[in-house]
Amino acid sequence: MKIILLGPPGAGKGTQAKMISSKYSIPHISTGDIFRKNISEKTPLGIKAKEYMDKGLLVPDELTIDLVNDRVKHDDCKQGFLLDGFPRTVKQAEALDLFLEENHEKLDTALLIEVPKDSILERMTGRRVCPVCGASFHVKFNPPKVEGKCDLCGNDIIQRKDDSEDTVRERLDVYEKQTQPLAEYYRSKNTLRVVDGSKDINVVFDDISNILGRD
Ligand code: ADP
Ligand code: ADP
Ligand code: ZN
Repeated sequence: MKIILLGPPGAGKGTQAKMISSKYSIPHISTGDIFRKNISEKTPLGIKAKEYMDKGLLVPDELTIDLVNDRVKHDDCKQGFLLDGFPRTVKQAEALDLFLEENHEKLDTALLIEVPKDSILERMTGRRVCPVCGASFHVKFNPPKVEGKCDLCGNDIIQRKDDSEDTVRERLDVYEKQTQPLAEYYRSKNTLRVVDGSKDINVVFDDISNILGRD
């Protein structure tokens, strides 16, 4: 099963990705998480990516495409994968199509999680994330069981630097200009499925499970 997740920042992509990955036993590949890991390890890629991420801008396609191409070649992707946060530009989508074509594979579903713009800011400013496993929580909507600690791995959860109000506004602009056109791209290929991400986390997951099928 090969799936990509589309949706604005704060749509719930990361939250749903963890649940989908566990239910369908496919690796969750988050380009944001990979960039953040490189930043914390101060790799050359991390140093370059940080400049863009701190401003709420997209990391250039050249860097991002190579990174994903390398990742999906790993053995754990043989039975499928879930891409969270990639593609984010038409160029990235074309590169993914090319990769799949060369390997005689195809994308099953492009899942777009929609949420109204005015709920995004509240979701983003209340978001807390685990820097170790990437799990996402919310101070009000999805608090961790133990305050300040990740439910999945027990590490301290933090607020992302790019979740400040100004950077979120920039990221939303970037989403509308560069990523939103992908909905049309996948609709024209008949792979687009849309879910209402404004419902409760578990209800959204039920809707997604109904789309993806097989329990
Ligand atoms: P994305 O990866 O799309 O940016 P996240 O999964 O990190 O989004 O979710 C953004 C924030 O919104 C997090 O704080 C998360 O706990 C919260 N959240 C996710 N899904 C829902 C939902 N259905 N209802 C309310 N809050 C949600
Ligand atoms: P969110 O969960 O809010 O959607 P991500 O963790 O997916 O955010 O991404 C954080 C940042 O990492 C983005 O704002 C962007 O700078 C960078 N990034 C992640 N994925 C991509 C991508 N496919 N192309 C370019 N930049 C990316
Ligand atoms: Zn964790």
